[in-house]
Amino acid sequence: MFDKILIANRGEIALRVLRACKELGIATVAVHSTADEDAMHVRLADESVCIGPPASKDSYLNIPALLAACEITGADAVHPGYGFLAENARFAEILAEHNVHFIGPRPEHIRLMGDKIAAKRAATELGIPTVPGSTESVGSDAEAERWARDIGFPVMLKAAAGGGGRGMKVVRGESELGPALAMARAEAKAAFGDDTLYLEKYLERPRHVEIQVLGDGKGRAIHLGERDCSLQRRHQKVWEEGPSPALNTAARDQIGETVARAMRAIKYLGAGTVEFLYEDGKFHFIEMNTRIQVEHPVTEMITDIDLVVEQIRVAAGGDLTLAQSDVKFHGHAIECRINAENPVSFRPSPGKIVHYHPPGGLGVRIDSAVYHGYAIPPFYDSLVGKLIVHGKTRGECLMRLRRALDEFVVDGIETTLPLFRALAREKDVVDGDYHIHWLEEFLARGALER
Ligand code: ADP
Repeated sequence: MFDKILIANRGEIALRVLRACKELGIATVAVHSTADEDAMHVRLADESVCIGPPASKDSYLNIPALLAACEITGADAVHPGYGFLAENARFAEILAEHNVHFIGPRPEHIRLMGDKIAAKRAATELGIPTVPGSTESVGSDAEAERWARDIGFPVMLKAAAGGGGRGMKVVRGESELGPALAMARAEAKAAFGDDTLYLEKYLERPRHVEIQVLGDGKGRAIHLGERDCSLQRRHQKVWEEGPSPALNTAARDQIGETVARAMRAIKYLGAGTVEFLYEDGKFHFIEMNTRIQVEHPVTEMITDIDLVVEQIRVAAGGDLTLAQSDVKFHGHAIECRINAENPVSFRPSPGKIVHYHPPGGLGVRIDSAVYHGYAIPPFYDSLVGKLIVHGKTRGECLMRLRRALDEFVVDGIETTLPLFRALAREKDVVDGDYHIHWLEEFLARGALER
């Protein structure tokens, strides 16, 4: 096992990793920018190192500074959390070159899944069904036109290097294709430094259903069921739950086993998520994330398995101690991502929290790094915290969620709490009857402004 883990992240996920390390008896090193001197992860870690100024590129993405921090503190492993360098294959390689373990998959798997065209090709070869689309990048506009005609409109233009819901364009007919290609290329270039695009059939009313996996890198891998992340704004998840209101046990077991078999075949190491669009009883792979995800607590609540502890164990060379039959699902969990944003305009609202009272009670979990008097800096994401609620049934979970949301006080900044209070009472959400465009349609109706 590792002696000392450096956590190359900030906010709630840095705290989440720190908690797992403490439970395993592993010493921790926090890193922070000058804007995060007062952050909770810095206060709770055994040691901390300042790695640069506020801008992420100069601090949390600064590989030489992170290496120096490992060297100074003698850390023998790095946990990247999510975002920042979590899916940077070169970072994993550089750490290995300096005899520091990367807590995550092998660089070749990070690289493979980071190229979404290659990932789809690999998925097909592994027997995972994918969204119909171009099997290669689209070069010229004429080539894109041929693919689009082949697939049939509407189609979606996507960036091969994409992430975070950016660089996607829906094209409903041939006349829109040319301008959309130009725009998508420019956006992809600006966001990812790579303007490679591919085409996919645009699905009108799917759900986003993803499978959590865990592998030991030696050919053992299991799945931990699914999370339904269909409630999205701008292709970004807002509310996640498990199990999905749309799946039954047979469907879950079947897709779960298909994915686990694929992970065994490639000897996948660590935690990962295989994402699908699910429509008319069929799964269509869209991408794989080779890291711990924001919504991982949903799975932890319904399986009682600590995903971060398991990540650390297998990264240290340990065998997967869990068999598929050890994974038992119980009850229902819902996670709300509460942001420091205006709940109607979604304008960021960083600043000082003058009063903070998180909810408590049975089945309520808060993953957050904020505290009374803490000032949310304007430089990073606007997550205040994640509220995760568990209940024996989906009905009990929703009851508890409404109660917990009503108890939650965050004063001094604007938050999206009112949005969640409304969602938890909205008929379609209560019925589990929603798809990936439902939330945008709900917001467009101006339901919160009244
Ligand atoms: P990113 O890596 O940027 O998160 P994904 O490929 O995971 O991109 O897609 C994010 C979201 O965009 C999906 O959850 C879904 O809501 C929407 N999306 C992606 N592909 C399609 C598609 N082919 N048809 C309809 N919606 C899509």
